[in-house]
Amino acid sequence: MLTIGAHMSIAGGYYKAVEAAAEAGCDCVQLFTKNNNQWRAKPITDDDVDRFQNALKTLRIRAPLSHASYLINLASPDRPLWDKSIDSMVVELERAERLGIPYVVVHPGAYTTTSEARGLRKIAWAIDRVHRRLPHCRAQILLENTAGQGTTLGWKFEQLARIIELCRHPERVGVCVDTCHALAAGYGWSPPSQFDTTLEALETHIGWNRIRALHVNDSMKPRGSRVDRHAHIGHGQIGESGFRNIMRNAHLRKIPMYLETPKSTDPGTGQPWDVVNLATLRRLAGEE
Ligand SMILES: [Zn+2]
Ligand SMILES: [Zn+2]
Repeated sequence: MLTIGAHMSIAGGYYKAVEAAAEAGCDCVQLFTKNNNQWRAKPITDDDVDRFQNALKTLRIRAPLSHASYLINLASPDRPLWDKSIDSMVVELERAERLGIPYVVVHPGAYTTTSEARGLRKIAWAIDRVHRRLPHCRAQILLENTAGQGTTLGWKFEQLARIIELCRHPERVGVCVDTCHALAAGYGWSPPSQFDTTLEALETHIGWNRIRALHVNDSMKPRGSRVDRHAHIGHGQIGESGFRNIMRNAHLRKIPMYLETPKSTDPGTGQPWDVVNLATLRRLAGEE
């Protein structure tokens, strides 16, 4: 059974994201548990939790996923920013736990003025600090692969593997694979020869049991461009051929998938793009 959904806005309440997901025909939903461009956040009330949990149950939306703030940089050599990022990651996990969300996706970080090796170590240290402060938290961090813009880390699967290996509790860390970011970082999804190479790299460096979520986005920019621009499914450089390979792969199709594509209306069909993209993914999976 496929689990496909999209990132949805929490404007008006967490349950609103669930309602929007159901409205679009999603099986699952991703959301921010706070404003993604601010450090501060209002506390989550019991009422927020009840409404969110009720909406999930009644609307049959499963696999809720949290995405952490974009301000967090666990690789930063700037001590105040690094400390703030750790504090913020603690809050992200606490908020997810409170809402009953099992995973929080975070971009590993950017090393800015230091080096790749130093950056990878800092990320692992930061994760260790977060874990030490939350010894009983069930919500887990998922490191997302990146496009590799600037000094951002995690674009090579080996880098994600290295961070996890350096953590004191690697069993508390999973991975979210973004198809657009992977392509931008050089991992092809078609033709079959490139797809096989990408899958082998995922299996070797990450392992299927560690991949808890997929971000299904097509890419405006070509393979290896190291530039992150999401496109609608089949309208980018991954194309229908790439997504057909993804949707029909026995390992990948078991993983919950979340769209992070623009939220406008498709002028071709007059339908919201989420509806169109979900239909495209289901068709390519052979499950129309
Ligand atoms: Zn993503
Ligand atoms: Zn992206």
